[in-house]
Formats: sequence, structure tokens, C-alpha cells
Amino acid sequence: MSQDWLKDIKSEYDVIVIGGGLGGLTCANMLARGGHSVLLLEQHYNLGGLATWFKRKGHIFDIALHGFPVGMVKTCRKYWTPEIANMIVQLKGIRFDNPQFSFTTTYDREDFTRIMEQRFKIPRENIEGFFNTARNMNFYDGQGMTTREFFEKFFPGRDDVHRMLMESITYANGSTLDDPALTYGIVFSNFMSKGVYTVRGGTDQFIGKMQKELLRNGVDIRTKCLVEKIITKDKKVGGVMVNGKKIRSKSVISNSNLLSTIHKLVGDENFSRSFIEEAKKVRLNNSSCQVYIGIKKGEKIDYIGDLLFTSEAKKFDPQELCSRNTTSRTFSIYYPQTRPGSGMYSIVASSNANYEDWANLSEEEYRNSKKELIQRTLDALEKYVPKIRDKIDYLEAATPKTFQRYTLHLNGASFGTKFEGLKVSMGLPKEILGLFHTGSVGIIMSGWLGAANYGVIVANDVDKFLSTGGVR
Ligand SMILES: Cc1cc2nc3c(=O)[nH]c(=O)nc-3n(C[C@H](O)[C@H](O)[C@H](O)COP(=O)(O)OP(=O)(O)OC[C@H]3O[C@@H](n4cnc5c(N)ncnc54)[C@H](O)[C@@H]3O)c2cc1C
Repeated sequence: MSQDWLKDIKSEYDVIVIGGGLGGLTCANMLARGGHSVLLLEQHYNLGGLATWFKRKGHIFDIALHGFPVGMVKTCRKYWTPEIANMIVQLKGIRFDNPQFSFTTTYDREDFTRIMEQRFKIPRENIEGFFNTARNMNFYDGQGMTTREFFEKFFPGRDDVHRMLMESITYANGSTLDDPALTYGIVFSNFMSKGVYTVRGGTDQFIGKMQKELLRNGVDIRTKCLVEKIITKDKKVGGVMVNGKKIRSKSVISNSNLLSTIHKLVGDENFSRSFIEEAKKVRLNNSSCQVYIGIKKGEKIDYIGDLLFTSEAKKFDPQELCSRNTTSRTFSIYYPQTRPGSGMYSIVASSNANYEDWANLSEEEYRNSKKELIQRTLDALEKYVPKIRDKIDYLEAATPKTFQRYTLHLNGASFGTKFEGLKVSMGLPKEILGLFHTGSVGIIMSGWLGAANYGVIVANDVDKFLSTGGVR
């Protein structure tokens, strides 16, 4: 007999959170801490969403653990536990290698200043001007200036410097030089303040500790529970349909993709026409490809850096970077200290990817393209780890279709939507009383830190909404 994932569930909660990504988890934790009854529904068997992992042949592979800003420490300490915050450590070896430059950096303001001054011969005042302008950008600034114009202002005609500043961001979320400078400035200055951070112990332990904390705070967590519909009546939320069952609630927070939340879970007919028009203009972010490389037990890899941004493209070219045959990839090298005591090494190669390049292939073409992706990745890695093929005992690849399948993100979007999604996400409660969204939108509210922080913001809004008796 199949398991009843909703066994002993209550018929009503104060809050239902749809999705256990970092936004949903953080939001659920804060609301439960605040004394509200919270039900968390996740369609997958694991929590974490894109912040996830999988186990194969004695290896544990982290999917989205490449690096996040130092702000994650404060967020985890304040809204989770000191124990979770203490898992966060800095990655010191960030390496770039492409035809225009090759160096290793700690990826902080001081070191970038040194590199720009000594290697790229940029005058100090331009460097200072650039950093100060980036740091002072905020969400309420206009979006008139593009990233290209911003770079040209301080580093005119220097496509090598533009590449250094932009390539790592484009790798991650596919942003281009034509996106607003504001979105670049906020993401970049977050990272540039004090470098790049990761989790010691791996994503499995990090999310595992979050799960324990949620249970301690009384959250009713149900995995393998797919929400099919958000129930609304007269512009008011009533609950959800999950695994064929109706559960009532005063508020619903969707951590599902913003566009699926609107068009699928709620339905266009329940929103005003002008809101739907706005929502239709929201663009999804790009997706990713990854290759997971398991190193045989007992084999070693010399230190080649923690994060290695590589490319054979002569110049920075966002289109090349997102194409199926790109030579641009980021290697995350997980040394045994990632999971102390394991003695295991693994490597994850990531590249940006367009969903359409993968979605329309026949089954055979798809299988072959994945094999090619793996072989091209190993060819590229050979330069840094000679005889890499002899050291491997597990290989697998993921494509935009894989990310879509496991998280239900439309087109496998790795960072939700582009910047215009934020306004639409924040506008949901004005359309339907008690309906909220949290999770990756607008670049600023995406990635591990952005998603978690957006969870905090929405938890505060929901708390206010519930404490005023659920009125507008
Ligand atoms: C390959 C890759 C590498 C990345 N690397 C980094 C990195 O190095 N640093 C960084 O900061 N960020 C990185 N990110 C991005 C980061 O992981 C995400 O931005 C962040 O984790 C998203 O959190 P979220 O709250 O939006 O939820 P998501 O992770 O999107 O999770 C949403 C959850 O909702 C669930 N769900 C959806 N619909 C339903 C439904 N109807 N019913 C029930 N459950 C549902 C899904 O199963 C999922 O668990 C990476 C992403 C990818 C794909």
C-alpha cells in the first residue's frame, strides 16, 4: 500500500508554506517561532529546493553550494541558530583562467583593488569610484543605467576588466551587460565586501539542521506533497489542494516559481487584468548545466583552488557563455574538509544554459548531448588535474530539464525571475488577501542569501497580516 504523506494532518493552519527552498524554510521558521501554526508542503522527498544534494556510490554531490556572501552568517544566526551560522566558512582560493587573464583571488575589495591596480593598471580613483558607486546602489534607485554603461564609466574600453567583473555573475544567473547596473551593483558589492563563503559539512547537514530546527519550533513538515491548487474565493485565500486533499488556512505563502504560482496554482482568472499584464512581462532567469565528478576513494587531488572560473572564449561573450557548446565553466572543488572525516573529493562543473537548447531534443539526442557535455568537461578539467579520467568512479550530468523536474521551476530557472519579478511578487497580497510569495526573484532576492532574506521579509508581512486578524 502506498504511504499516506498527509497522515494525521490537521484540517486548518494559520499559515501554509508551499515549497521547502531557502525562502520557504526561513519564512516557515520565523512564523513558527512567532507562535503561528505552520504547515510546510514540499513536493520532493528532500527539503532545500535548489539548495540540495544527492548521494551516489559513496559520494555526496552538492548542487548549488558554490559560494554566497558573508551576509549569510548574520541571516543564519538571527533567523536560524548559531550552530547553523557556525557552519559557514570562507573560500580563499577563487581562480580565474581564460585567454585574457589568469590569477587567484580572495574575491574581496582589497584583493580586487590590488589586482586592478597592479595587473590591469587602472588608476586608483577609478577603482575607488567604482566600488563606492556599487556599494551605494539600492533597490529604490532608478534602473536607467545599464551594467555596460556603469563599467564604461570607470573602465572605458577595458573589456578585460569588464570580463573580470562580470563573468562570474553571468556564469551563475545569465545576467548580461544590458541588465540594469543596479542589479549588478547590489549582487556584486554583497560579494565584494568580504569574499565568498560556503558551508562546512555540506548542504545535506546544513538543510538537515534547518529541518531539525523547524520541527523544534513546531512546523508540520510534509514532503512528497504536491500542491495542485491554491484555493481563493472573493479575492481571499482559503487554503490549498494537496495530494487531492483540501487544507484550510488564513494565509498561503508560495515558494514555488513566481509565474507558476500566478498562472497555475492560483489561475489568471482570479487576478485583475492589469496584474496579469504585469506578470506576463516577467522574464525567467536562465538555467544551468552541471557535471558531477566523483573521485575514487583513496585518490587525491592537489589543491587547484576552491572555485575555478575557466573559459577558452577570446573575449567575454554572454551568448557564448549560455550556449550548449560553451567552453566556459565553473569548477567547484570539494576537498575532504568540505565534509570533515569523509576523506572524499568531488568536483562539480557548472555552466549557464538556455532551456530551449535542451528541451526540444529527441531522447537519443538528449542522451548523447549529456555524454558530450561530460566528455568536454573532463577535457577542460584535464588541464588542471592531469589524468583526471583515471581518478573518477562516478559521472553524471544535469541539464535545465533536470532542474525543472526536481524543483518544478519553469524552464529550470536557477535564480527565479529577472528584476521585474520582485514588484509582481510583492504585489500578490494586494490582489488576493492572505496570498504571499517568497523565493528567488529579481536577482537581488535570489541565491542562498537573497532567498533566505526574502523569506524573512515575507514572514514579517504575514505576521503583521495575521496579527491584525487577516484584514487588508
Ligand atoms: C546549478 C545551480 C547553482 C547555484 N549556485 C548558487 C551559489 O553558488 N550561490 C548562491 O547563492 N545561489 C546559487 N544558486 C541559486 C540558489 O540555489 C537559489 O537561488 C535558491 O536556493 C532558491 O531558493 P528559493 O527559496 O527560491 O527556493 P527553490 O530552491 O526554488 O525551492 C522551491 C521549492 O518549492 C518546491 N515546490 C515548487 N512547487 C511546488 C508545489 N506545487 N508543491 C510543493 N512544493 C513545490 C520545489 O520542489 C522546491 O523545493 C544556484 C542554483 C543552481 C540551479
